[in-house]
Amino acid sequence: MPVIMAQLIDGVTIAAQIRAEVKDQVAEMKRTLGITPGLATVLVGEDPASATYVRSKHKACEEAGIASFGHVLPKDATQEQVAAVLTELAANPNVHGILMQLPLPKHLNEDPLLALIPQHKDVDGFHPSNLGLLGVKGKPPPFAACTPAGCIELLERTGVSIAGKRAVVLGRSTIVGLPVSLMLLTRDATVTMCHSRTVNLASVVREADIIIAAIGKPLFVTADMVKPGAVVIDVGINRIADPSRKSGSRLVGDVDFDAVAPIASAITPVPGGVGPMTIAMLLKNTLKAAKQSQK
Ligand code: NDP
Repeated sequence: MPVIMAQLIDGVTIAAQIRAEVKDQVAEMKRTLGITPGLATVLVGEDPASATYVRSKHKACEEAGIASFGHVLPKDATQEQVAAVLTELAANPNVHGILMQLPLPKHLNEDPLLALIPQHKDVDGFHPSNLGLLGVKGKPPPFAACTPAGCIELLERTGVSIAGKRAVVLGRSTIVGLPVSLMLLTRDATVTMCHSRTVNLASVVREADIIIAAIGKPLFVTADMVKPGAVVIDVGINRIADPSRKSGSRLVGDVDFDAVAPIASAITPVPGGVGPMTIAMLLKNTLKAAKQSQK
């Protein structure tokens, strides 16, 4: 019997399309309205991974013609100092979107700081009101969190219909699992969320037409958990040892891609699936923020 390989959902190509669309619309906005969309980032401390993420966001802005304003605070910055920067950015008319890079150093209290980002500048979609509105049908929030929005965009641009489907989301974090579940729900999927306390998880996942895996456990979703023909979106990014590589390691998702791809109808790879979508959706949200600021 021939092995049926799933359609590869190519996040690199889809993200590049979105970035090109944003770039065109930014140019149009500058030409017609004389407005340049602006994104401000706030980085506290010197965590190398966070600094790299912020740098790549600035580079992506530059490529799209979006202005970016970087604010770096020392790792021992006080709650009041970070709050003062956010308050100033909230009032700055040239800043349409504000992104505070998470996680913050442990001594800072994240929630009150996130709440200082006005809902209409919350391009990361982490404001409690934006998160809550994701679950209210017919009242979409101004911004959805970028990684969950990227998952939905991958499904939609691949032509996967969501309404009426059984969707199972692995993980319930406020950054990925919860918002993507709400977004699937308001698109009329029947949604089940799994987490570390779920009993008989494999049998729940086996019922899914659409699986979103976001738990941070390498190769967790195996072939026996997947219904033939299911669509699989793998959000996980995990580094595992691989002596065959020069670096001694490689990135894998939460899904055992090699085993699941022959069973699924469509699947995202890691890397090159959801990952590139996050920055693309951030650019899209920043453009949207600039457009909304004109209303
Ligand atoms: P969190 O650690 O915040 O949440 C993990 C979730 O998975 C929790 O809800 C937890 O359950 C659940 N979980 C953990 N172990 C199991 C298990 N054995 N069985 C079932 N559920 C389990 O992770 P994030 O949501 O922040 O990230 C998830 C993954 O997505 C990570 O690999 C991360 O690197 C990746 N990621 C990728 C992004 C991208 O751009 N592609 C962006 C953001 C994240 P419980 O709530 O019960 O503890």
